[in-house]
Amino acid sequence: MSSTAKTIIRTYDNYINGQWVKSSSGEMFPVYDPSTEEMIAQVSSGTAADVHSAVKAARAAFDSGPWRQTTAADRGRILYKLAEKIRANAAQLAELECRNSGKPIVEAEYDIADAATCFEYYAGLANKVLGHVNPVPANALSFTLREPVGVAGQIIPWNYPLVMASWKLAPAIAAGCTCVLKPAEQTPLTVMEVASWSEELGFPPGVVNIVNGFGETTGAALVAHPGVDKIAFTGSAAVGKMIVKSAADTLKRVTLELGGKSPNIFFDGADWEAAVDGALFGVFINQGEVCSAGSRILVEKKIYSKFLEAMTEKAKRIKLGAPLERETKMGPLVSKEQYDRVSSYVELGKKEAKVAIGGGRPKQFSKGFYVEPTIFYDVDNSARISREEIFGPVASVIPFEGEPDAIRIANDTPYGLAAAVWTRDIYKAFRVVKSLRAGIVWVNHMQPTYVEAPWGGYKQSGFGRELGPWGLEEYLETKQVFVNLDETPIGWY
Ligand code: NAP
Ligand code: MG
Repeated sequence: MSSTAKTIIRTYDNYINGQWVKSSSGEMFPVYDPSTEEMIAQVSSGTAADVHSAVKAARAAFDSGPWRQTTAADRGRILYKLAEKIRANAAQLAELECRNSGKPIVEAEYDIADAATCFEYYAGLANKVLGHVNPVPANALSFTLREPVGVAGQIIPWNYPLVMASWKLAPAIAAGCTCVLKPAEQTPLTVMEVASWSEELGFPPGVVNIVNGFGETTGAALVAHPGVDKIAFTGSAAVGKMIVKSAADTLKRVTLELGGKSPNIFFDGADWEAAVDGALFGVFINQGEVCSAGSRILVEKKIYSKFLEAMTEKAKRIKLGAPLERETKMGPLVSKEQYDRVSSYVELGKKEAKVAIGGGRPKQFSKGFYVEPTIFYDVDNSARISREEIFGPVASVIPFEGEPDAIRIANDTPYGLAAAVWTRDIYKAFRVVKSLRAGIVWVNHMQPTYVEAPWGGYKQSGFGRELGPWGLEEYLETKQVFVNLDETPIGWY
């Protein structure tokens, strides 16, 4: 570890087979604080050879290591210990997550608690995996065994770093898999801290491996590796498509949690204060860097002008600031790359629609990747800012006339991750719920996510489900055992 005048620069190697290992290329890459643009860490950049070492270790741990002999209850106990250790170190982890990702500290605290909850949930679920007895004829017995899928390659994004790691690692470990996880190159720090506890928590070497690096090298090597049985990916649809193609060569199992362009629908008569708040929360939480962001705000024409005005007034009061300050409600975007990407959509939006608020860089910051909360209105659903995922604090407000029109616009998107509907009319609420093509539909809320309930997309938002028993299911194979109870020969030949 070395330090500069201002900040401690931490260094992290890769965690492979229970050891901290330098990159085979010797290269490291910098990790930044997006609010100050200062380097806060350097991380060993994993090569294809490093991925190979990690997969070999995970393979050995799965095929012949002590991990296969652990009981589900043993694995649950390790996961409980891990959750407890996260809670005991929550303040430090939240601070690190906040500094590395730019998210407000209060949100980072929720994230760390959510990650611990996810490990606790799968700790409890580990020994509740049951097979079936199948109703075959009386002279036979057929039952199913649920077995771990094997070596899981796991690739995650930067918006919820430790939460995304927990959604991947917890069910895989509960199921009895071994893991090779690649964090996003922007935000590897919290999961590296957690990995450093592996031995103390009782993970045998090779069960949890973390290889840092870039998608095109480290990530691609993991997806292509013949020793990996399954890829669990969370990220953009564009990368998801590449992963499916690459994984096809070895016919790996693949689950994908991709992006969205989720509609947040407001009908006349909805609880006014809650709706205005929900429209802003739905799209601006975590700087809008949320896969389920309610980035298309569909508002019934009868209330459109008044609603837009109320939203805009309230959005003016969103406190942008240093992520570590407790009053901050919006921090910087995660990286220069993301800042440029979002800024180019903001410029495009100015051509495609009208600006109610925002539209640039907030003037009070001389450093940091800050973007103003931006609301475009009178947006057509065919505009690029209505169709493409921006992944920043940018909302498109779209008017509609009546329920069928709302449903048509809401479903007119290649994505299908999430949606929300706001109304006091329960008949309407549930008709709309049934009509929407999305993996989650909230009624009179948007964004709450609980580990007990499933998460995943329809359409180009991916396939497979995370969280709840569904998340564990994705790491299990089903083996049928058939037992002949009849001693007479088959007599066919
Ligand atoms: P991304 O660019 O798709 O990257 C996601 C991960 O994939 C990163 O670790 C990335 O590595 C890696 N990657 C990139 N190219 C790869 C390749 N060719 N082969 C293998 N891995 C590769 O997405 P992002 O910008 O990090 O995250 C934002 C996206 O994630 C958004 O689209 C968002 O909607 C989605 N997301 C979805 C959910 C969900 O649950 N549905 C949750 C959160 C985020 P690098 O380190 O090089 O970037
Ligand atoms: Mg990326």
